[in-house]
Amino acid sequence: MKLGALEAGGTKMVCAVGNEHGQVWERISIPTVSPEETMPQMIAFFKEHDIEALGVGCFGPINPVKGTATYGYITSTPKLAWQNYNIVGAFEEALGCPVGFDTDVNASMLGEATFGLAKGLDTCIYVTIGTGVGVGVYANGGLLHGMMHPEAGHLLLQRHPSDTYEGKCPFHGNCLEGLASGPAIEERWGAKGAELTKRQEVWELEAYYIAQACVNYTFVYAPKRIILGGGVMHQEQLFPMIRQQYEKLMAGYMVTPELENLNRYIVPCSLNDNQGVMGCLELAMEAVGERLLAEGLRTGKLFNL
Ligand code: ADP
Ligand code: ZN
Repeated sequence: MKLGALEAGGTKMVCAVGNEHGQVWERISIPTVSPEETMPQMIAFFKEHDIEALGVGCFGPINPVKGTATYGYITSTPKLAWQNYNIVGAFEEALGCPVGFDTDVNASMLGEATFGLAKGLDTCIYVTIGTGVGVGVYANGGLLHGMMHPEAGHLLLQRHPSDTYEGKCPFHGNCLEGLASGPAIEERWGAKGAELTKRQEVWELEAYYIAQACVNYTFVYAPKRIILGGGVMHQEQLFPMIRQQYEKLMAGYMVTPELENLNRYIVPCSLNDNQGVMGCLELAMEAVGERLLAEGLRTGKLFNL
């Protein structure tokens, strides 16, 4: 099938065309300005490629809960031009095809679950540590939404006794995003993360916070693997530090085959940074499946197969 994928980000919109096998044929990037300016460009791209369904992985907060009044909307985002914008409705109307919709990080999680390191695992989490921190939760074979979607990037943490930095998050002084995102590193240490590679203390503190979060994610979601992505995780030296801290904090409390080898439990993302786009292709496929099911049930044909 010819499927569209949209990774909708706060600074750029990555539009791609590919198929249900996760193959990506073409992609373009459009700056995120306003719906009036940006939507027509994206619609033109997808129309030109004559896609049969679209999957959207979107910056949030959003409402991905089907059957609620504002399903398909970008909701309380600080990006004011997009606040309370019905992005799914706009694409459905313009393209006339099924549209799948979820958070950007849930799309990455779905990409890993379908094509990457979480393939075959029914429960897993994907954490992206970049400009913000987001967590996608795949639980019992599907993405977790609950009343909206988890906001586990704002998990509250115990501050390191020597850390006097007030935190970057305007809502919480001591959440993971506030203490460990790329902008938090930059503000605390006075330089971008990429320029601090050799500063051991930077990454020890970073690992201290990420490991705390990971242990708590294990406690609440019992994921069979934790995948860490995003710009900050390009600092590969973080992985052994995080695993070491994790082991210390877990203190042998949970005993499972998965936790026996942390090198396989806490891992970098796979798919060469394509997990988001590939996950959007899978979201498009899920939307196709849902439409077929709905039509089959409506016409009664489903049971005559
Ligand atoms: P976004 O979150 O905006 O989609 P990224 O995941 O690339 O994009 O995150 C950007 C953040 O990650 C910035 O704060 C940047 O300083 C930081 N970052 C990017 N590359 C690196 C790196 N190699 N080492 C440390 N930090 C990095
Ligand atoms: Zn926060």
